[in-house]
Amino acid sequence: MNLSKPISTQPYRGRLAPSPTGLLHLGHARTFWTAQQRAIANAGTLILRNEDLDPARSRPEFVSAMLEDLRWFGFQWHEGPDRGGPFAPYSQSERRPRYLAAFEQLRTAGLVYPCTCTRKDLAGALSAPHEGDDEPLYPGTCRSNSALHPPPSPFSWRFRVPDGETISFDDGNLGPQQFIASRDFGDFIVWQRDDLPAYQLAVTVDDNAMRITEVVRGADLLKSTARQLLLYRALALEPPAFYHCPLMTDETGRRLAKRHDALSLRALRAQGAAPESLRHNWT
Ligand code: GLU
Repeated sequence: MNLSKPISTQPYRGRLAPSPTGLLHLGHARTFWTAQQRAIANAGTLILRNEDLDPARSRPEFVSAMLEDLRWFGFQWHEGPDRGGPFAPYSQSERRPRYLAAFEQLRTAGLVYPCTCTRKDLAGALSAPHEGDDEPLYPGTCRSNSALHPPPSPFSWRFRVPDGETISFDDGNLGPQQFIASRDFGDFIVWQRDDLPAYQLAVTVDDNAMRITEVVRGADLLKSTARQLLLYRALALEPPAFYHCPLMTDETGRRLAKRHDALSLRALRAQGAAPESLRHNWT
């Protein structure tokens, strides 16, 4: 089923959605720059959302570094945690009631089930790491658990994907995309065992609530977009358009990650780099 959104007639609203779990690096800036350029080209509004869902990994000092580094690099947003706006709050840690309401909707509809599998159980159940994916394919161990009688041991909640269904969408940058549920990605967590909403649910709820018309993100999240399209459908929400950017790699071809400290915006700034020259050949 093609779950793409038709061309939007709404005013363009884009977003930058960094997680304050470390310093932003040039790869983040590259994707965000595309997001900003697209918002400008469409005379749109750019939103900054602080994705501080995980209190164990998010730190206030990374939030302030993120705001400062983004401003230094030349980003300007219209709504955000520092400026407010009509869809406040703009920090995910303050939006829990919205995620809970969406989760209850999924639970009432019988679309999620409690899962007691630990990371260790799952690592043992896998024959081989799933190629290039962000998480292992869930083998379905807890699928028959009843949502009405949650188990006594700690559990997370998984969304049951429609086995074998092709999820397709037209990406604004990469063209037509197709993923098969249960083959390319499995049942995924929407509510974690530590009682926190999972990324897939929070981002879907927020992009909808903040009236985002186009999500610009890295190509590492293509399968997550397919997962989120299933959540939009399950929650009866209209999805935004999607535009995935190629990931920046280092000289050995490895994608940039937080381990590339030398390429953090902070380090580049300390070395005297000028944002204009860092992005001189970016479109
Ligand atoms: N906070 C997520 C990240 O930094 C957001 C990604 C997205 O949904 O665009 O990876």
